[in-house]
Parts: sequence; C-alpha cells; structure tokens
Amino acid sequence: MNLCDMDTIRDVLRRHGFRFSRSLGQNFLTDASVPQRIAEQSGAAEIKNVVEIGPGMGCLTAELCRRAEKVVAVELDRALLPVLDETLAEFDNFEVVQGDVLSLDLAALCREKFGAAHAAACANLPYYITTPAITALLESRAFDRITVMVQKEVAQRICAAPGTAAYSAFSIFVQYHAAAEILFDVPADCFIPQPKVDSAVLRLTPLDAPAVQTRNEKLFFGLVRAAFNMRRKTLVNALMPALSSSLSKEEIAELVRAAGLEPNVRGERLSLADFARLTDTADALLSERR
Ligand code: SAM
Repeated sequence: MNLCDMDTIRDVLRRHGFRFSRSLGQNFLTDASVPQRIAEQSGAAEIKNVVEIGPGMGCLTAELCRRAEKVVAVELDRALLPVLDETLAEFDNFEVVQGDVLSLDLAALCREKFGAAHAAACANLPYYITTPAITALLESRAFDRITVMVQKEVAQRICAAPGTAAYSAFSIFVQYHAAAEILFDVPADCFIPQPKVDSAVLRLTPLDAPAVQTRNEKLFFGLVRAAFNMRRKTLVNALMPALSSSLSKEEIAELVRAAGLEPNVRGERLSLADFARLTDTADALLSERR
C-alpha cells in the first residue's frame, strides 16, 4: 500500500470515518520520496531502535519499519489506531503507544521498549508542539540522533548563528545540547491538508557533554532568557530584571566588562561561549555576595 498516494489516503481515511484535526497539527505527507529520505537519514538502520512521534496514518512509520529492528510510535489521536492497524499490518516490528508525547517520560519509554540499547527519534512533528517536543527529546538524553521535520523558519532559528535575526534563546538551548543541521527543505504542497508554511528536516545529534561548560547551568539559561526577552536593548539593560535584586546597574556593566564583552553590546550578538563566560563571572560575583 502506498501510504502517500492521495487516492489511498482518501479511501483509507473515509472507510475509518477519519477527519483531519487542525488543532492536532495533522498534515500528512503525500510525496513518497520525503518519508524515504527522512527514514534513510534518521539512523534507523544503524541505531536499530526508533521512537516516532505522531505516526498519522503511517507513511514515515512504514519507512522506519523497513530499516529498523523496532519502531515504537506515540500517537495522541485514538481515531488513528484502527487506521494504523490496517496500514502497518505487514510489519511485526511496530508498536503504537497511545498518548501525548509531552506527558511521557521518554527515557523510561526507551528503557521499557529497548532495554539498554541505543535509540533514535524521528518525526514529522505537529507544528503546535515543536518547541516542547524538541526540548523533551533533548532533555531525555535517550537518543543518539533526532531527526524531525519542523516549520522551515523554526529549523533556521534552531541552527542560527549569533548576531543574525533568527538567533534566539531556543537556538542557544538546542546548540548547548546538540549539533544541529538542516538536511533538506520540504515545500507545503507535499502535505494534505496543505499547511501555510514550508517545512525543513532537521538533524540533531546530542552531544556527550554540553557545547560549553558553565559553573551554573540554571543561571546560564536565566541570562540567555533575559538577554533575548529584550533583544533590542543593550545587554546591560536587558540583564537588569534578572540581576537587579543583587547588583546595581554599574555593577552589571562592570560584570559585562569583566566577562570580556563591550558594555554596549546586545545580547543577541553573544555566542554560547560568551554567555558561559558571562555566567561564570556573574556566578562568582553573586557567590561573594551570599
Ligand atoms: N507522520 C505522519 C506523516 O508524516 O504523514 C503524520 C504527521 S502529522 C504532522 C502529526 C501527527 O502527530 C498526527 O498524527 C497527530 O495526531 C500527532 N500528534 C499531535 N499531537 C501529538 C502529541 N501531543 N503527542 C503525540 N502525537 C501527536
């Protein structure tokens, strides 16, 4: 069964009385080359165990099942379970877990399904959970490789360099935990129903250790958030809400200089290493004050 063929999709979904839910981000792939390319580059064949988020009617799942030893897919929409029973009937290495991926313990799921073996994650992600889903995938530390299709602008934001318009607090979060690269773009006309935006397939390779070392990870991300909350302001002004209970504006300016940064620099120009230096300098200063 060609699960990307429009007539097949319409026929299967009609027989099951299925209706697309916009609120669940249901845009199914209709170009067979796309799930093939995603599965090929997902590491399914080498890593052998795969968790897929949101199998839909199973076009990507089938490609993963052809390459991996075992595929566990998490699907929120109960209405798709009988559909998947039919469309993936030929595979005995597939299991579906009904539930919301955001309320699952992904590390525990991998232990339960794959024991101590390595696993990859793969998904055509529903747009509305892109940021929390990528956050959960990275924080689980359960995956050797994460291959996800997301909105093209989000993929660009995740991979963005310091000083560019796309650079954001989320770029820093992802790049702290993983090496990020865009594999290829997928135009909006490859889906039913067609979304308003284009997509891109992103590969995240989680790092063994964070990209930069800091004395205080919580403070690091607190300073990153503060810098980007007011990204058009100078770093000194942007840091005020986060630090003014302990430091005066002059002391924050001194802190920025002591971290080797220009006093009038904007936070959006700082690299991960700059934020790490700023964090360690601030942490040392704040520790003296306690
Ligand atoms: N993989 C299919 C494809 O590429 O054609 C479908 C992808 S569609 C963009 C997203 C899928 O994720 C849908 O099947 C939707 O029901 C499911 N989904 C939405 N929210 C979810 C959640 N919180 N947890 C798990 N699955 C979810």
